[in-house]
Amino acid sequence: MEKTVWVCEGGCGAKKTQEEYDSGKNKCGNPACANYGKPFEMRSECLSCRAVMKEGEEHACDTC
Ligand SMILES: [Zn+2]
Ligand SMILES: [Zn+2]
Repeated sequence: MEKTVWVCEGGCGAKKTQEEYDSGKNKCGNPACANYGKPFEMRSECLSCRAVMKEGEEHACDTC
């Protein structure tokens, strides 16, 4: 099982759910981050192991 998440690639480690993204948290709000003010990127998160994948990326783990 996977769900859509939105992440910052600037190094701050921000990760938002679809619900948070839809409610307006759609860009990095950490002034110390290289991507401050830039929009988050869409990823898929494995609900079993919490691995974050790019769209369409192959994923396999022991628990999912
Ligand atoms: Zn950031
Ligand atoms: Zn997994």
